[in-house]
Amino acid sequence: MIELADARRTLLAACPSIAPVALPVARADRCVIVADVVATHAVPPFDNTSVDGYAVQAADTVTATQDQPVHLDVLGSVLAGSVADRPVEPGRTWKVMTGAPLPAGADAVVMVERTSARAGSQLGAAGDQVAILAPARSGAGIRRAGSDVRTGETVLAAGTVLRPAHLGVLGSVGAREVLVYRRLRVGVLVTGDELVTDGGELRPGQIHESNRAMLMALLVRANCEPMDLGVASDDVADLEQRLRHAMAACDVIVTSGGVSMGDSDPVKAVLERMGRLNWMQVAIRPAKPFAFGVLDGPSAPVLVLGLPGNPVSSLVSFELIARPALRHMMGHVEPYGPSVLAIADEQLGRPLADGRTAFLRVLSRIGPDGRVHVRPVTGQDSHQLSASASADALAEVPDDRTVQAGEDVLVYPLS
Ligand code: AMP
Ligand code: MG
Repeated sequence: MIELADARRTLLAACPSIAPVALPVARADRCVIVADVVATHAVPPFDNTSVDGYAVQAADTVTATQDQPVHLDVLGSVLAGSVADRPVEPGRTWKVMTGAPLPAGADAVVMVERTSARAGSQLGAAGDQVAILAPARSGAGIRRAGSDVRTGETVLAAGTVLRPAHLGVLGSVGAREVLVYRRLRVGVLVTGDELVTDGGELRPGQIHESNRAMLMALLVRANCEPMDLGVASDDVADLEQRLRHAMAACDVIVTSGGVSMGDSDPVKAVLERMGRLNWMQVAIRPAKPFAFGVLDGPSAPVLVLGLPGNPVSSLVSFELIARPALRHMMGHVEPYGPSVLAIADEQLGRPLADGRTAFLRVLSRIGPDGRVHVRPVTGQDSHQLSASASADALAEVPDDRTVQAGEDVLVYPLS
């Protein structure tokens, strides 16, 4: 057996790299950017008003009070998207709407709530007068050019994992496309003579297939584009043909089943036959066996990730081993998920010491102390998917100990 950390390191080192691609900004959420994005102009591009109000010379308003307002002549009204055609001079003002460029000559904007227009007057019309009811500080109500982003500033550093607000930032600097590591096209191929997929009557020895939809959904959550490659029998020739066929369309192929010590474990056998088998017995429970290989695809190398077939093992194997590899290929600097130091509300036991680290499926809650508390789901065997489905995290329990109620335990949130 090898330690999880070593298994991960071995796999990451074998992962093929993928070429970056320019994606429209609106389609790049969750992708990792390849190069720094530098602003070619300032945001905002010009001084503008942050309020609806009146652009003034602050010196004009020094004596203004509710009882003794200062009256200014209105030159007209400037909307966002338009420009004043003459400057503000002493005794004059432009009515300005939020986002409108600050008229030349003005050094403050008095918000409309601190003004009063003559009753019956047309709002903001030239020739009108407005009463200023309070003094304005120079600079008030103005957002300066470049106060968000300066020209030449790096707005997003290479390696940033794009989130919705980042897409907004790219829009604000005028970027239409962004260079990212593209989403991997990942085929999902489940194996097993016993598997039934049409929901029909089960013959003796048959079971309903459960891993395909689960793995496809996990891939979507990992920002990949999954492709359903169907169900292969345990026949090595059938499996090899399906793999060869899928290589043209996939960057990665995730398989389930057929990597254990059984008499007919076809994924292992095929990769061995193709001379590409890396088989690992990882010192974790569940999900001990894991196979991978890099195949020569028609245009690029294709990574095959062989997960064990037991449904809970498939899930845990994906979370702990496959997903980090996919994230690594998609440019994530930090391919592993976050961990949280939680409190065990119940004992997190293990059946026996077997040289493996247990990853128990646990349910978490935030306690009144503000910390994450976990308790194990009932049913920790690797076929008990129904029990594990209610879990939202994996708790790491070292081989040589039991975590007692009230003790700290490291947990990894599930996708
Ligand atoms: P394997 O990894 O192929 O040896 O399978 C281990 C166990 O998981 C066996 O009991 C299989 O029947 C079961 N199994 C494998 N693949 C699936 C699947 N896609 N859906 C449900 N059970 C599966
Ligand atoms: Mg099988």
